[in-house]
Amino acid sequence: MKFENLSYSAYRQKLFDTQFTVTDLVTTFLNRINEGKQHNAFISILEQRALQRAAEIDKRIRQGKTGKLTGLILAVKDNIHVKDVKTTCASRILSNFIPPFSATVIKKLEAEDAIIIGKTNMDEFAMGSSSETSYYGAVHNPVDPECVPGGSSGGSAAAVSAGMAVAALGSDTGGSIRQPAAFCGIVGLKPTYGRVSRFGLVAFASSLDQIGPLATNVEDCARILEVIAGYDERDFTSANVDVPKYTNSLKQGISGLTIGLPDEYFSEGLDPYIRRAIINTVDLLKKNGAEIVPVSLPHTDYAIADYYILATAEASSNLERYDGARYGVRADEVHSLEQMYVKSRSEGFGNEVKRRIMLGTYALAAGYYDKYYRKAQKVRTLIKRDFEKAFTRCDCLITPTSPTTAFKIGEKTDEPLAMYLSDIYTVTANLAGIPGMSIPCGTDENGLPIGLQLLAAPFQEEKIFRIAYHLETLLNAQ
Ligand code: GLN
Repeated sequence: MKFENLSYSAYRQKLFDTQFTVTDLVTTFLNRINEGKQHNAFISILEQRALQRAAEIDKRIRQGKTGKLTGLILAVKDNIHVKDVKTTCASRILSNFIPPFSATVIKKLEAEDAIIIGKTNMDEFAMGSSSETSYYGAVHNPVDPECVPGGSSGGSAAAVSAGMAVAALGSDTGGSIRQPAAFCGIVGLKPTYGRVSRFGLVAFASSLDQIGPLATNVEDCARILEVIAGYDERDFTSANVDVPKYTNSLKQGISGLTIGLPDEYFSEGLDPYIRRAIINTVDLLKKNGAEIVPVSLPHTDYAIADYYILATAEASSNLERYDGARYGVRADEVHSLEQMYVKSRSEGFGNEVKRRIMLGTYALAAGYYDKYYRKAQKVRTLIKRDFEKAFTRCDCLITPTSPTTAFKIGEKTDEPLAMYLSDIYTVTANLAGIPGMSIPCGTDENGLPIGLQLLAAPFQEEKIFRIAYHLETLLNAQ
């Protein structure tokens, strides 16, 4: 079977016209995964499960039954539970953990006949920006295998970019969907906090985490969000807000929309190639009817420090449960309870995770709580207000997704601060709880993809889709 087009929207109808079967598709993708092993994008490949589901779905197609995502070949980040399939979070401590239930997003996707082809590699516990901290080894960027794919959803981004899945799920706590999407030249969306249920997502920083789609194009992301969004009684932070038909907003055009450019996101540290690509794209939008206004987000400078206090504080608490007793691999030869805790955690966690647990514990310690954690909460409110003010003047913001394109594997592993700075333009959306999308916008002098970020007010994903779809069409025509 010939199957070149990776867009779900383009091949969906062909399945119903019986030009090929879901089983053909699954076989093709399993072959591609095999051929793409060197990228190290997958931790588990669900060959038998996917083929079995494909046969069931082929039967349903023959019976005339349609799902919203029939035959969508999906890769899932390995911190989202799929019942009876191990969830490792790319950590040694969870290397044998098999969840007895599926995440809400997985149930919803499978109910619409999407097919999960595998679980993807990532930074350990989603802590990182390069997918190098995995217990299973680093992921390679399919665009340039010497470079990182970004992180922490690097396996998901690499899988889609290399054509080993049509789309993927990632999680984004400070940029982990958007930055890898940018580095691998694909589309990635972090929805509004509360838009998608987090039930069955292993918690990193619960007030910042959100699940979202990665795909080669904007329409596929809209189709997936339409299915996974919505209230879930199992996640009390999920929002009871109606889910719009996102696919309807795609073709509404951009006339009448105002786009804000925040000064602070174009300052020192931004790669000149990226600056030029973003500005040229904004000019293109202007020519096509959008109004462009300058805006200011004055507390941006504090965002990285703020994020790394809050995210580590929450992580130190969330990761307490991995103690070798109920959760986590238990160390051998332990002779006391304390020794079991210490040895299991020392052996089970990698260095970056340990660093975060220590930082977070420090920020929460009596005597330091007011100085760090409480202060960081106040700064978070100021950052949120910056956005509220900006969105009184515009519908969407455009910024770079990341200050650089993909860097070399190993380049930043010894410099945690340099690594943390790669999230400078993405962490603010998590702190403010707003939606953000990265879409491809050209390449740099080495041919590496550049990502453009669109941000909107809470629950305004439709505006993002509208502009992103229009931009994608304009950029593809160039
Ligand atoms: N790179 C950021 C961090 O290391 C964000 C990670 C994420 O979004 N999961 O915390």
